[in-house]
Amino acid sequence: MVRLYNSLTRTKEDLDALCAPKVGLYTCGPTVYNDQHVGNYRTYVFEDILVRALKLLGYVPNRVMNITDVGHLTSQGDEGEDKMEVGSAREGKSAWEIAKFYTEAFLADCRDLNILPADILCRATDHIPEQIALIQRLEAKGFVYKTSDGLYFDTAKLPDYGKLMTREHVEGLRSGARVEANAEKKHITDFALWKFSPAGTKRQMEWDSPWGKGFPGWHIECSAMAMRFLGETFDIHCGGVDHITIHHTNEIAQSEGATGKPFAKVWMHSEFLLMNNAKMAKSSGGFVRLSDLKGRGFSPLDYRYHCFTAHYRKQLDFTWETLEASKTSRRRLKEACLMLKDEPSKPNCAEYAARFKDALCDDLNMPAAMAVVWDAVKSDLPGGAKRSFLEEAETVLALDLFRKDVEEAVDPEIAKLLAARDDARKRKDFTEADRIRKVIDQLGYVVMDGMAGAKAVKK
Ligand code: AMP
Ligand code: ZN
Repeated sequence: MVRLYNSLTRTKEDLDALCAPKVGLYTCGPTVYNDQHVGNYRTYVFEDILVRALKLLGYVPNRVMNITDVGHLTSQGDEGEDKMEVGSAREGKSAWEIAKFYTEAFLADCRDLNILPADILCRATDHIPEQIALIQRLEAKGFVYKTSDGLYFDTAKLPDYGKLMTREHVEGLRSGARVEANAEKKHITDFALWKFSPAGTKRQMEWDSPWGKGFPGWHIECSAMAMRFLGETFDIHCGGVDHITIHHTNEIAQSEGATGKPFAKVWMHSEFLLMNNAKMAKSSGGFVRLSDLKGRGFSPLDYRYHCFTAHYRKQLDFTWETLEASKTSRRRLKEACLMLKDEPSKPNCAEYAARFKDALCDDLNMPAAMAVVWDAVKSDLPGGAKRSFLEEAETVLALDLFRKDVEEAVDPEIAKLLAARDDARKRKDFTEADRIRKVIDQLGYVVMDGMAGAKAVKK
């Protein structure tokens, strides 16, 4: 039985899917006005592990992810500029071009990280009518009031508003409350559902609505699209912990306010990736992109491995040294798998497979799952049984452990060196063979001697 920690009930619960084996999942996607950093990708890797683990355990997940391409203002409190317009001014491109460019960059990074594509990827700007319809439903139920700059949700009208938050969350919100908060709001927690285009200015992204020209508030897109694709109540909703206090709290308020039914049954949140003891964030300046990491000779999959070194509900430090350690571990694991590649397949070893699944079922405990993988590698199991187990684990790990194409696409210079090394070995000139191995190593490849001759595998 899969047990997952539910932020709403603050306990680990058995997964009780509404329509098993199907599992409806909504995962908040990126705001596409800038590059994502590896902190963001920690959350997306966690969600990918959830999807892959569910598949391995016999479920059929249906993952919806949104692309926020409008309406997310620079402050979480409905103030400031629209992030898309900020990106547009910064780069001298239209807001639409910015959205397209960073959506593609995000999807390319996800591919590099072996994150499975969402079953449904939906853009906020493609679903404005659904958002307007949801606001109208809320209006009919008396949850909405109007100020000079937009329509707001009256949080005092919903008795269990804020139920996703613990006392610490509420205190954190209070201490961070901005003095200059919008004076027209009835309560500090009220939030925008629709913002009017400021008079006399032409926004790049704006739509007609029953209340006048404008654009949707940030939270409403997720409620509208989750309901559109997964129904009014669905199984799991995910995101990073920073979304608990405002974004997810407000998604619950507007969805449950409109339908009177529970929105998501289980809420899962991944903890932060830290850099220099603080949350890695675009605003703080201290952040690393996937391209920075590649520029330093790391594979995106070294970072994926790194994400497995901490449980998703624990903070994880990012340093180049720890990433180096993850790179080495992944390389060793890959070497072990490639050695087994030609072994005849034997039935999977039940003990390791069961332990691996148990670790996943225990709230996606990846450090424990990796320990099982290493135990299997070091065990004296027959090669074929090891191989079958590791191939199964790889469907969740997705670290390209058995990927051959890297070796096949070996560069001609390396191929020549390998041949020269083979010659030296045939002549029993091991000093020369060793010298060549070191040269290949310096060029970024590991030499592996197998039954079918030597191969060079990119580090
Ligand atoms: P954003 O584009 O800011 O909405 O962020 C996209 C996703 O990344 C959200 O689910 C955030 O909660 C998550 N996120 C942002 N910063 C971090 C971080 N430092 N570590 C882990 N997740 C993060
Ligand atoms: Zn969302």
